[in-house]
Amino acid sequence: MKDGPPGGDDDAVVPGRYPAGVDNQWQTRTFERLNTPVDRFVGDKTAKAFAQLRVHTVGDLLRHVPRRYLAGTENSDLTDLPIGEDLAVMAIVDSVQVAGQSPRRRVEAVLTDGRGRLSVTFFGKDYLVKFWVGLLSGRPRGIFVGRVGEFNNRPQLTHPKFVLFDERGNPTGKSDQSDLVASVSRSGLVGIYPAVKAVQTWTISATIAMVLEQVADDLVEPLPEWVLESEQLPTMLEAFQDVHLPDTRERAERGIERLLFDEALALQLAMAQRRSQAAQDPAAVMQHRPGGLLDALDQRLPFTLTPGQQQVCDEIFTELAREHPMQRLLQGEVGSGKTVVATRAMTRAIDAGYQAALLAPTEVLATQHADTLRGLLGDLGDGQVLGAPEQATKVVLLTGSMPAAARKQALLDIASGEAGIVIGTHALLGDQVQFANLGLVIVDEQHRFGVEQRAVLGAKAELRPHVLVMTATPIPRSVAMTVFGDLETSTLREIPAGRSEVQTTVVDATRHPAWVSRAWERITEEVAAGRQAFVVCSRISKTQTDTDPFDQLESDEAMPDPVGVEELAEQLATGPLRGTRVAVLHGRMSAEEKADTMTAFAAGEVDVLVSTTVIEVGVDVPNASMMVVMDADRFGISQLHQLRGRIGRGSHAGVCLLVSHAPPGSPAARRLAAVARSRDGFALAEEDLAARREGNILGSSQAGTRSSLRLLRVLEHLPIIEASRTIAARLVTQDPHLENPYLADMVRQTELLAAGDWLEKG
Ligand code: ADP
Ligand code: MG
Repeated sequence: MKDGPPGGDDDAVVPGRYPAGVDNQWQTRTFERLNTPVDRFVGDKTAKAFAQLRVHTVGDLLRHVPRRYLAGTENSDLTDLPIGEDLAVMAIVDSVQVAGQSPRRRVEAVLTDGRGRLSVTFFGKDYLVKFWVGLLSGRPRGIFVGRVGEFNNRPQLTHPKFVLFDERGNPTGKSDQSDLVASVSRSGLVGIYPAVKAVQTWTISATIAMVLEQVADDLVEPLPEWVLESEQLPTMLEAFQDVHLPDTRERAERGIERLLFDEALALQLAMAQRRSQAAQDPAAVMQHRPGGLLDALDQRLPFTLTPGQQQVCDEIFTELAREHPMQRLLQGEVGSGKTVVATRAMTRAIDAGYQAALLAPTEVLATQHADTLRGLLGDLGDGQVLGAPEQATKVVLLTGSMPAAARKQALLDIASGEAGIVIGTHALLGDQVQFANLGLVIVDEQHRFGVEQRAVLGAKAELRPHVLVMTATPIPRSVAMTVFGDLETSTLREIPAGRSEVQTTVVDATRHPAWVSRAWERITEEVAAGRQAFVVCSRISKTQTDTDPFDQLESDEAMPDPVGVEELAEQLATGPLRGTRVAVLHGRMSAEEKADTMTAFAAGEVDVLVSTTVIEVGVDVPNASMMVVMDADRFGISQLHQLRGRIGRGSHAGVCLLVSHAPPGSPAARRLAAVARSRDGFALAEEDLAARREGNILGSSQAGTRSSLRLLRVLEHLPIIEASRTIAARLVTQDPHLENPYLADMVRQTELLAAGDWLEKG
């Protein structure tokens, strides 16, 4: 094998093999070929039809893989044919005859696979009828491909395409179906492709076979040999050939492995590049300062850290003391005590002379964080006022709805550096916010903030700040490695001692309406015992239009309209909960009203809070012991788990009632049963993910986007994702700027998944 420019010396090109030496021209040629629009090969109409299948380029086309393979004898069960499906059967023509009168003559043949029989009909002019009868006489064996129709209540193929074989199993050439001949591999395996009306499976396979033949010479293996060796993968060209024209099923599967690997690798390359970038950037070095703010805080913590908190803090401190920015994800169940961890990290930053920012997704949460931190810090958080401890810093809150004067003061404190701890919502990302010396950014409930927002905050600092992302939604490992693949992960698994049980029960409101009344009685009992309750609705009012994705999913189940916060609060206050103090909370209220209501609830001035999911994240009212979720069937597993985390935070056992109209056995009923069964957030997250199908979660089916994920399923393909992660890290070490144009293109085409789209929904 020689090096040489593409198209030069003929024997320099060994199709499918990587030429000796790394020569970017080969890879350029490969990726240019793969990026050629399909309309260079097919007519406009076909190209449009392919677009419906998200096939725009040659690369897309070659990665459009059969959803299954039919191999004559093993799959042609003629006894049980699904009407309306595309089908390929290997069968013998048992009989053939002409029926009807000219000009309505037709050929009627019967196929058999030895078990069942299937009738096949062709209509046509006399000469065609004669031609077909000639071909099909003498009990030939062949593959017949078509859509199964119905005639006289029996399955039938009308005008199937077919290829006949001679005794040795070679196509006879008498078939006059060049499309199909091309799509049947030597072995007789027929790939059945995901298809649409305008391009059916055999057109797809014929197009692929044609295109593959034309571009094969240009498909030089873009990955280094060692990758293929270490993962035992076929070359890209072999993979395409094996997937589309397989000799054996094993080869087809091996080909698909390779395509899967490439998808996983593209994602992981993007992540590896980000990590390596971060690893090179300088960052503030934050050493421990004996006698500083952190030590002072530790002395007044009202509890001892759990071993898990201790360990996570150590991980964080080690990284803060390095010269490169920390990029860490901290996941911990609701109530696992992430806030203390965050607070300790922030005080460490302040001890090193930097500011720390805490980003929260909502005003309610930002406000609550500010209160919590001020509570933990006491006079350590009041700033350098007269008589304050010398380590004291100022905790400043910045939200969008603050009055102008307070806002101005906050901005000043942030700019002067007087505020060591800055807590806020998106407002922190605004242009007017200037930090004196930002060194650490903590993002709570990451899924509402994308990578871009992290970058905006990063740009407000001279050195790239350390980043800690906290999420209460447990993230399965495979997802953590893809969606949050640029972050290292820490996990808090245990809940601090003193937590109480939460008993979760599904209340079937359709079959047992009386149980719902019982739920209200139960609330009055809790309130009489001095406790508080949440009632959660899926919408604000009856008239609200619904955009919840689960509504659409299950719209065919006849379900009553969901109840709204406003109506229900009214009904409860004047009916079953008369005498208790009921308040409402929802997104249509002003930030101030919301904050006031939350404060009143936290202070025990409200007994029952009827709300939408605005209470979802992070809200901490230890005295709340009961939650009733109305129309719980409209919520996703993770969301319900999050909601339920609002209770059982104090010493009182919690009760969570999931009121549902979902019919037994429905997907919604199964989701609710899962939530009732388990309080293990990690297990629930896995179920949630499985229930929602990762394809959608990662946005690959979002209209208009061209995601590179065609085959990869994040949950199913963990081993491939892990392997590709290791390989990606090595590739990026060897080629930090991705000068290999194919790899660079792979990354470019990988739309970086907006972190947490998958968490956001339902
Ligand atoms: P998260 O943000 O992870 O949901 P929080 O940080 O709000 O959890 O902690 C939940 C509650 O547990 C808070 O009231 C907090 O004061 C308390 N807590 C945190 N750590 C401990 C601990 N080590 N021992 C006892 N209580 C703790
Ligand atoms: Mg929290």
